[in-house]
Amino acid sequence: MPLIDIGANLTHDSFDRDRAAVLERARAAGVTRMVVTGASREHSHRALALAQAHPGVLYATAGVHPHHATEYTEECDAELRALHAHPEVVAVGECGLDYFRDFSPRPAQRRAFERQLQIAADTGKPLFLHQRDAHADFLAMMREFDGRLGPAVVHCFTGTREELFAYLDRDWHIGITGWLCDERRGAHLRELAPHIPAQRLMVETDAPYLPPRTLRPPPKDRRNEPAFLPHIVDELARDRGEDPAATAAATTATATAFFGLPEPPSRRELDILAGTAL
Ligand SMILES: [Zn+2]
Repeated sequence: MPLIDIGANLTHDSFDRDRAAVLERARAAGVTRMVVTGASREHSHRALALAQAHPGVLYATAGVHPHHATEYTEECDAELRALHAHPEVVAVGECGLDYFRDFSPRPAQRRAFERQLQIAADTGKPLFLHQRDAHADFLAMMREFDGRLGPAVVHCFTGTREELFAYLDRDWHIGITGWLCDERRGAHLRELAPHIPAQRLMVETDAPYLPPRTLRPPPKDRRNEPAFLPHIVDELARDRGEDPAATAAATTATATAFFGLPEPPSRRELDILAGTAL
């Protein structure tokens, strides 16, 4: 069953030495499409270039992560808007608020987030959101744009039950990563997983970050990659009491619709192309 990794930081320099092999392993594992996260000015450009080099397989987001909020100038805003003119750029973000690390001052984070919400409102593109320890401000800022935004996904959801239901009540989507597999801090996610409706659930590796701790053998270099997504889907399916094939099919259908991706060719279409159809 083909999978879509909705959050892979494939422009990360840890992939520079073997990016082609990483993509080949993803394909072999059934991860047929990936959305490359753009999380800074520089990497949003690189995400688009990577998507353009792999049409139909890689797509990109363009945005500025709250960690990099201080780089959000007028020039940066214009650059992001130019990136969003490209059809390969399928979402605005990664953007949001992170009061856990506070790598950028909070007023700068809020300003960069607001500007990107405006881009999403102007373009109608989906939002790829990051929220950590900033739930109240995050909700308040999103509320300012009520009725003006397209679909939204809270990527790498790690929050509480209250946060989950607040997001689902607002009809947002939830991105689940291998955080679920971390017995030290992800156990609560296993209890919450069955409460996410299939049409609101998507899966992601957040590679190279968050290698699933239940993966055997563990990756030698502690680097996560899209080929590990089926493992996350297996763990998630078990928590949801579902057949992994059902979880895979539902998350792929949800991601296809969410990002407005073309439907992949059906088995019959592939047979026709191969000249083997009756
Ligand atoms: Zn994030």
